[in-house]
Amino acid sequence: MHVVICGGGAIGASTAYYLSRRDVAVTVVERTGIACAASGKSGGFLARQWSDGLPGEELARRSFDLHAELAAELGGDAWGYRRLTTYAGHADPWEHSHRKGYDVAWLSDGVTVTQEIGSPGNTAQVHPGLYTRAMMQAAETHGAVLRLARVTGLARDRNRVTGVQIEGGDVIQADAVVIAMGPWSILAAMWLPLPAIFGLKGHSLVFDTGTSVPAEAAFLEYPDSGETLSPELFPRPDGTTYVCGISGEEPLPLDPAAVMPDEKSIARLERLCANVSPVLASAPIVARQACFRPIARDGVPVIGDIPGVENAYVATGHSVWGILNAPATGEAMAELITENRASRIDLEPFRPNRLPPLDPARLRRAVQGA
Ligand SMILES: Cc1cc2nc3c(=O)[nH]c(=O)nc-3n(C[C@H](O)[C@H](O)[C@H](O)COP(=O)(O)OP(=O)(O)OC[C@H]3O[C@@H](n4cnc5c(N)ncnc54)[C@H](O)[C@@H]3O)c2cc1C
Repeated sequence: MHVVICGGGAIGASTAYYLSRRDVAVTVVERTGIACAASGKSGGFLARQWSDGLPGEELARRSFDLHAELAAELGGDAWGYRRLTTYAGHADPWEHSHRKGYDVAWLSDGVTVTQEIGSPGNTAQVHPGLYTRAMMQAAETHGAVLRLARVTGLARDRNRVTGVQIEGGDVIQADAVVIAMGPWSILAAMWLPLPAIFGLKGHSLVFDTGTSVPAEAAFLEYPDSGETLSPELFPRPDGTTYVCGISGEEPLPLDPAAVMPDEKSIARLERLCANVSPVLASAPIVARQACFRPIARDGVPVIGDIPGVENAYVATGHSVWGILNAPATGEAMAELITENRASRIDLEPFRPNRLPPLDPARLRRAVQGA
């Protein structure tokens, strides 16, 4: 059996890993580079229980446990896996009140830490780009192949998918095809009955803070120009600290390589960081970046086989939890493709046809006009 996975983000690479462990021949077709998009530029924060009571509960719990398992089996130090204490608080950059509650020494006096919202038992982190590349490498050691090319369509025999078309006209034959192109999965709605997947832009900074910042994540509320921002701060074991928290309204560019940060959003995030932490105020910034997270209309991931089309699968729309949920999504996809059912999680809440499919002709016109 040969499976072609379209997209080399965390979801595609994790699916490649779990399929290759089952001795399935896998080709990952990636347009730009492994983890070039959100999977290389996101926070990498993992929470076991924060999806409880939501459709993603089982997926998140299973995936949190699989992250620990992968780290133990494959050497998670290589991708910065570690358990964390996680705090919530609020900042008032104008009134420098004395810190109350918890003592989080690397945050400024203007930040009040009110709550411990996660412990090393239920919150953790990875460096998402290193995790994604490690999954692809592990898949390659089991025989998977990475092909750098742009997917432009699918080869079909009536209602059966037989391969993937790439730029230049070549077709890579496949017994099954997985669409895992993050927000660009929407393009596959020109070829398959798929619901809309949107891209929401987020900006982030990476600081060189050294190793003195402990394994403590912080989720803050920060009043700024009449709105409340929600920055998330993740010190990493490699001596960097990642901060995100400013979203943008810009449309998704067709080419993942064309995603650029907006200067004003980056400047605003820099000011925020300098206010909430003296460590960040004095640390060099090593990355100013933006990426788009994939999200379906109802905010729930889209995972499963595509009804009415044989050999076609999709795994996308993971929104703010794509790194957390990558291993369990990959495991479930591998089971679904090889055994026709996922045994560890119920994929019912994620059925692609719970949402109406896009009109391919309209989408084609919109893409041609873009
Ligand atoms: C600011 C921010 C912070 C985040 N923080 C966290 C966090 O702390 N924890 C967490 O769990 N999640 C977090 N997320 C969410 C997470 O990053 C995403 O859900 C996840 O990375 C999506 O992975 P993916 O593989 O579906 O898509 P992507 O990472 O977007 O990968 C899709 C891949 O498909 C490729 N592609 C596109 N078109 C084509 C084509 N035509 N042919 C071939 N390849 C193609 C792209 O080049 C890309 O590599 C965050 C997201 C953002 C924006």
